[in-house]
Amino acid sequence: MLNQYDIVIIGAGPAGLMTAIESFRPNKNIIILEKKYKPALKLRISGKGRCNITNDANFDEFISHFGQNGRFLKYAFSEFFNTDLLKYFNNLGVNFKLERGNRYFPKSDDANEIVNALIKKINSLGIKVETDSEVKEIKKDNNDNFILTIKNKDKQSTINTNNVVIATGGKSYPSTGSDGSGYKLAIQLGHKITPIIPALVPIETKGNTAQKLQGLTLKNANVEVRCKNKKIDEEFGEMIFTDFGVSGPIILSLSKTIVKLLTKGKKVSIVIDLKPALDHQTLDKRLLREIDQNSKKIFKSLLKSLLPSSLIPVFIKLLKIPQNKQLSQINSDERKKLRMLLKEFSFEVKDFKLFDKAIITSGGINVREINSQTMESKIVKNLFFAGEIIDIDADTGGYNLQAAFSTGWVAGQYLKNISN
Ligand SMILES: Cc1cc2nc3c(=O)[nH]c(=O)nc-3n(C[C@H](O)[C@H](O)[C@H](O)COP(=O)(O)OP(=O)(O)OC[C@H]3O[C@@H](n4cnc5c(N)ncnc54)[C@H](O)[C@@H]3O)c2cc1C
Repeated sequence: MLNQYDIVIIGAGPAGLMTAIESFRPNKNIIILEKKYKPALKLRISGKGRCNITNDANFDEFISHFGQNGRFLKYAFSEFFNTDLLKYFNNLGVNFKLERGNRYFPKSDDANEIVNALIKKINSLGIKVETDSEVKEIKKDNNDNFILTIKNKDKQSTINTNNVVIATGGKSYPSTGSDGSGYKLAIQLGHKITPIIPALVPIETKGNTAQKLQGLTLKNANVEVRCKNKKIDEEFGEMIFTDFGVSGPIILSLSKTIVKLLTKGKKVSIVIDLKPALDHQTLDKRLLREIDQNSKKIFKSLLKSLLPSSLIPVFIKLLKIPQNKQLSQINSDERKKLRMLLKEFSFEVKDFKLFDKAIITSGGINVREINSQTMESKIVKNLFFAGEIIDIDADTGGYNLQAAFSTGWVAGQYLKNISN
């Protein structure tokens, strides 16, 4: 390894790889330092291994998925947005398809295709990627050069550089390499970190009802987050029951609200509307009609017409109505209990999963300390940030990867054009 570089990029995730490619100019010495044995482990497992790379949402809607700090991304997205990202990869030989929820995936359904395209480009430019190289410390010498201490397996070494990009990701899924060590590097250099919490996390529920339903996916559920029976948040879409509680796109989106409430010590429940297309009155009419038309059939057959099979035993237990009871014998109280359970299938929240199961980290480098048009630190000259290490996080849907690529692109463009 050389000892002096023009640009050192810490982290070979989407943000770091994009920064490297875009900052390239012939005769520039660029190196990417990656602590894991191979680059982009998180990108490879993104979108359940299929990589939901971006979203077809329009500019304003896209930004709105990031909450308050979305404003920080306005410049980056106005320079390099979803269609630019798709074209970028088209030029690298990757083609995409649009799926439900306006989500883009590679046609191959393989996240490795995205990683391989980036690595191929990196190699063709002669940019070095040093794996098994963890940056432990960054200091500045008297000439304003950065000195990085690197641990490579059992060896320790230092390298000097004029420009450093910290693209080390957040703290979630630490097994992929992003374990929060980038925050320590930024703090060493004088930056402040806004509190970091796991976001987009599965939720643990009390009791064993969810466990009994493990594997069941509800495609069109409406889920409310309630506190003291008051609605705090709501999402419509797909969710799944797991061995510990609930997960899936709408639960992950609601998890930010749930985590905030739980960390304030509040009791939280989630209420699933299994028949969101029917209001109470219309649902009651439908139940009455079904009961009238099938009066000789049993209660279980009514449930069969209303629910996925794995929900039937759960409903029978919760309603305490014998499954063999003839429909003609079902009284109005029992019909009401059934209607209420269909509209308000409730679970008390026990806890949220921690960083090891969180899709993204909320919090990070304070956006007020970064120039949004260059990604350069406002505190330390020639220090840059890109990707999830910045205090930006969005819902599921491809928004987070777009942010990693766009911030990397902006940092890269600026670095390409500065003289040293
Ligand atoms: C299971 C899962 C699925 C996801 N699916 C999607 C999806 O489909 N769509 C979407 O938009 N988002 C998805 N995300 C989120 C998205 O993957 C991340 O937001 C994105 O990878 C962040 O990119 P990054 O480059 O900032 O950081 P990372 O991808 O985390 O990369 C950071 C890199 O830095 C390295 N590193 C860390 N510290 C050091 C150090 N001190 N020295 C050297 N190297 C270091 C790490 O090893 C890592 O390779 C998913 C996340 C998870 C966990």
